Amino acid sequence: MMYFDNAATTPMFPELKDALFKYSFEEFYNASALYGGAKSAKDALQNARTKVASRLNAQASEIIFTSGATEANNTALLGTPKPAQARVIITAAEHASVTFCAAELKRRGFDVLTAPVDADGAVVVSALLSLCGKNTALVSVIHVSNETGAVNPINEISARVKAINPKIIFHSDGVQAFCKLPPPAKTVDLYSVSAHKINGPKGAGALKCAQGIHLNPLLFGGGQERGLRSGTENVAGIYAFGLAAELFQKAYSPDVFVGLKAALVTELGALPSVKFYLPEAGVPNIISLSIEGIYSETLLHMLEVDEIYIGLGSACAANKAGNSALSATGRTAQEIKGSLRISLGLHNSLGEIAVLSKKIIEYTAKLRSRNVAK
Ligand code: PMP
Repeated sequence: MMYFDNAATTPMFPELKDALFKYSFEEFYNASALYGGAKSAKDALQNARTKVASRLNAQASEIIFTSGATEANNTALLGTPKPAQARVIITAAEHASVTFCAAELKRRGFDVLTAPVDADGAVVVSALLSLCGKNTALVSVIHVSNETGAVNPINEISARVKAINPKIIFHSDGVQAFCKLPPPAKTVDLYSVSAHKINGPKGAGALKCAQGIHLNPLLFGGGQERGLRSGTENVAGIYAFGLAAELFQKAYSPDVFVGLKAALVTELGALPSVKFYLPEAGVPNIISLSIEGIYSETLLHMLEVDEIYIGLGSACAANKAGNSALSATGRTAQEIKGSLRISLGLHNSLGEIAVLSKKIIEYTAKLRSRNVAK
């Protein structure tokens, strides 16, 4: 099996098995219980909080554990206090968990505006800044595009947004950046991350909420996570999240990904009419390309027979009609039909890239000869 869809999810570090077992079968206690055994569960949460916080350049007290980044994004977008009809600004290349929250805010009467992105999928900063004003309550800019790998300069953008209006709350979806890029600056008030993109478990994530920033909870109940996220904590998943952050940062070397990406671009470059979308500022592990004259979904299923797995784009966008983030970059409908997203993980090797490239070239020739796209 060869897996190249690491922006969708990653395989868990085998080292997490013991931790998941321990807090599910042995120290399974509710972290809020008062007897001695529960202290171990409480300590596990604190351990993870410290580990996640240190990778976000934040205080442990600024971390709110959630069920993942979808919940973190919902908490940020819906939970930030906003005067009636206040303005909320997002970008045209956000993940569905931000765009659908923005649609909900619009339905609730807020003035929701979308800043355009360039051909790389990065926000047009001047356009975004021109939308910010006195009435703006919240700005949300994805850190690294899950579709194209483009990096938005969120530290600079958040500082400039606050120079226009210091009351604006700045949120960033940091899922594809966490443990790969330096942590966000203090001007980023809210920052969403997820465990399963860094070889941790699914169902664990966090929202960094900077000290002094007020949020309204989405979930009410037992008052866990400083009252901002009620519900019995997923101790095993959260503890494993902390360990994964530590393990990922040790294992991750951008240079390895730069080498793998260069090999892929060279080897697939042999294919006639292939177009790579390589952002000027981009992470090396997400490679977006389009092959003219094929349906990439057909190619995906041909590769699947060989147990080679790639993505077409966001797995969340795959559940819906069209891919709005890719259309926002100016790709034509035809280009989107032929689009692939190859996202690399810690386990990928140059040998795998060679096999992947060879298979894509072989199957594209087959598809073109059958004229499948016509
Ligand atoms: N934002 C981005 C950029 C993502 O790639 C994803 C995962 N597809 C999410 C948010 C949602 O994260 P989760 O699966 O943890 O809810």
